Amino acid sequence: MSGRVVVAGLGPGADALITPEVSAALADATDIVGYIPYVRRVAPRPGLTLHASDNRVELDRARRALEMAQAGARVVVVSSGDPGVFAMASALFEALEDGPETWRGLDIRVLPGITAMLAASARAGAPLGHDFCAINLSDNLKPWAVIEKRLRLAVEADFAMAFYNPRSLARPEGFGRVLELLRETCEPARLILFARAVSTLEEALNIVPLSEARPEMADMRTVVIVGSSLTRQIPGTELIYTPRGVPE
Ligand code: SAH
Repeated sequence: MSGRVVVAGLGPGADALITPEVSAALADATDIVGYIPYVRRVAPRPGLTLHASDNRVELDRARRALEMAQAGARVVVVSSGDPGVFAMASALFEALEDGPETWRGLDIRVLPGITAMLAASARAGAPLGHDFCAINLSDNLKPWAVIEKRLRLAVEADFAMAFYNPRSLARPEGFGRVLELLRETCEPARLILFARAVSTLEEALNIVPLSEARPEMADMRTVVIVGSSLTRQIPGTELIYTPRGVPE
């Protein structure tokens, strides 16, 4: 039996948002590897071994997946959302690049999933309907100065912005600094969407102008979408959108 590694995105939470391609890979797997809450989303069955590990051990997890595939297992590495967005696909390729050459002959596939910002955007209307960018606000893997520079330039370019990992218990102050920076550079009426646990039973959406945004409105289960200067709310509705064009 020849082994393989599939890196699969489980989408934002709802089973209905898992692609049929990912469901088929899960059904065919011998081993599931991933962060504890994501592995928990895969139903146990005979013949399937679940390998759940803690956060921040992405490279160990990736090496383990490659080793198991080398030994003949059909491994699925699971991420939430899309595996290529601030998730396991890059970790797997880092491990592949640094690992033994034999790993490079393995069958490795990345299966996309619905990433948080797209699920959130769809719930709220179309805030990402024109040019936008995504920024990971975690400074685990990059210096804070890089985050700040990217944020300033994105505001200057008038992108709508999606912020992943906005706030954690380990980094409670960073998101407050982000809001301060936005207040220095954007108008007070700039729309901000706080989308928490989208597509799960705990889903909560909150749309506020920048002047009313507070750090506590975000946590680690929230993706934050900051509109461009053109993003607007349709009066009498909860719908926000960014028009498709920019006037001359
Ligand atoms: N690969 C994932 C992102 C992992 S980083 C994806 O493509 O969605 C984890 C961050 O994703 C969280 O801190 C949060 O900002 C966001 N996130 C993941 N699932 C979410 C959901 N259901 N609702 C809102 N934000 C979510």
